[in-house]
Amino acid sequence: MWKFWLCFGAVFLSCSGYTWPLPDQLSAAQQRELKELQQDVETEIEELCCQNELKRCCVEKKKSLAQRNMEEWEGLIDSLKELKSTPDEEEAIKWLEEYNEELRQRNVRNAEANWAQATNITDENAAKVVEVTLEVTKWSLKKMEEAKKFDTSGFSDDVKRQFKMITTSGSLSDEDKQRQLAEIGTELEKIYSTGTVCQADGTCLKLDPDLEGIIAKSRDYDRLTWAWLSWRDAVGPPMKDKYAQWVALLNEGAQENGFADKGVLWRGAYEMPDGKLEEMVDAVWEQVKPLYTQLHAYVRRKLSEKYGADKVSTTGHIPAHLFGNMWAQQWNNIYDIVVPFPDQPEIDVSDTMVEQGYDALRMFKTAEEFFKSIGLRPMPQTFWDKSMLTRPDDREVVCHGSAWDFYHLPGDTDVRIKMCTKVNQEDLYVIHHEMGHIEYFLTYEDQKTLYRGGANPGFHEAVGDTIALSVNTPGHLKKIGLLQNVGHNQDFEINELLKMALAKVAFLPFGLMIDKWRWRVFSGDITPDNYNTGWWNLRMKYQGIKPPVERTNKDFDPGAKYHIPSGTPYIRYFFSFIAQFQFHQALCKEAGHDGPLHKCDIYESKAAGTKLKNMLSMGESRPWPEAMKAITGQEKLDPSAILKYFEPLEKWLREQNKDEKLGWD
Ligand SMILES: [Zn+2]
Repeated sequence: MWKFWLCFGAVFLSCSGYTWPLPDQLSAAQQRELKELQQDVETEIEELCCQNELKRCCVEKKKSLAQRNMEEWEGLIDSLKELKSTPDEEEAIKWLEEYNEELRQRNVRNAEANWAQATNITDENAAKVVEVTLEVTKWSLKKMEEAKKFDTSGFSDDVKRQFKMITTSGSLSDEDKQRQLAEIGTELEKIYSTGTVCQADGTCLKLDPDLEGIIAKSRDYDRLTWAWLSWRDAVGPPMKDKYAQWVALLNEGAQENGFADKGVLWRGAYEMPDGKLEEMVDAVWEQVKPLYTQLHAYVRRKLSEKYGADKVSTTGHIPAHLFGNMWAQQWNNIYDIVVPFPDQPEIDVSDTMVEQGYDALRMFKTAEEFFKSIGLRPMPQTFWDKSMLTRPDDREVVCHGSAWDFYHLPGDTDVRIKMCTKVNQEDLYVIHHEMGHIEYFLTYEDQKTLYRGGANPGFHEAVGDTIALSVNTPGHLKKIGLLQNVGHNQDFEINELLKMALAKVAFLPFGLMIDKWRWRVFSGDITPDNYNTGWWNLRMKYQGIKPPVERTNKDFDPGAKYHIPSGTPYIRYFFSFIAQFQFHQALCKEAGHDGPLHKCDIYESKAAGTKLKNMLSMGESRPWPEAMKAITGQEKLDPSAILKYFEPLEKWLREQNKDEKLGWD
């Protein structure tokens, strides 16, 4: 018999023992599973009540937690009783333990090789990435064959889950093709990361920070067109054929493993029957589209006033190069053009950051301070020693920001960020985004290697963004000395919400269309002859934007966006931009916030931090609806939080747009 202790003490610790019912006739594996659950519950209750907030801990909360876990406990015992004990499972668990440890060690090597290449692009480092990738593929294929020998039908859910992860693969069996695939992948990323545009006077510009800087700051229509077009002409065409080959190989690998195409495999990360993910995101899009359409009409009017009705019509698609962002994915850089009430106090803190002498390190320390304030972990010393926080000037690097887990064991942690930080508010946000990934890595580092991942990829993207929703409130920026004046009237609030909408709402159709394009490329609906037309059809349909000059299928504009050549799935960002508002709302409630959602700042709330930590610590061990429930109480991706957040703005926009012709068809 195990004794399980619940702490019921409003002021002082006083525990009443509880004896958990435990049937015999369970296999060692089943007993182990029960023990794991018991430990989880103990840790959870201990964290929630006994350690952090003993004196203030609410008795009712503990009771309900105990109750919930009792139900779970009894349910588990029932389901285990029904299963007959399979002697095989013992062996399978032992095999999995070894698998997880070997996978971890291989992940370390893989990360090291990729990091070396990403922070120093050379042929030698590229060759090493290819070798490591091939090694991983070879090993995974061997292990997959071994795994298939186990009949998992009678195994517990957790064991089944791990086997399913191991045997879901898109690997090619032919070694020459594996090599080809790895080489094309490295090559595509290299074309993007080393892409350069030279001007008539002989000076050459990189994407980051040069061309992105022009797009962000220039208000000269022709200069913008030049920067927009030059970047696409520099990197698109050299990628096009390689990209088609790459798609063919990925599909071949997927088909060898019984999937219709690579897109099916990608969508599999969401553990939904195929077709359901697209259905879900389409339904969410329909609900947020009216808000986007209002924002679009308002911005279109402002851009038309700025550049002239001959350049921007007030009824059609908006030229894509006028949004202050190379991909028109977020529009916050043109806040100065569209600001509703210019006389209100400034809310962009970029200039103040420069004046106050911020540098990359101070920006990272600022972000770290917030995470620590809610009880999440500080960055380990190795993070500061090994990360790349600014662009080095002696070598080529992949500047696109990213966060890395080196899969070390707890106690020997190695996590890093690679970023070419610039001192402005946008990069301060990006730092929070990347550090959110790091906190996730740190919080699930005790999990089995297979479970060291996000509940789904969208969860991983949402953590840092959720925190940044608090950080970017004028209230918080004032608290940390970056804003002097904060307005307390409706005009100021509309400015604030509009600025946020330029980043969050403007992004939604972009976040949706990228993988709509790629899913169709993988399924063959969009063929290499139609790559560019297919791309622009979706850009026009969802975003209501158009290319500033005519494009043809000789161009390859998708290649000018990092996640296409790097092969990173994108629907995760759409998911994240909806889910982060759900998370924000739930954490604000936990922090006891009262008032409009857009004013909430969870800074220093240990209660909110604990709620977040509990979800993060699950890693990938359970399907995402359970993780969603752990933090929000509901199992769905639900746009009502983002709609609630922007409600005052939407109302204001409707009023502004009452004489506009909404939409773009
Ligand atoms: Zn990210």
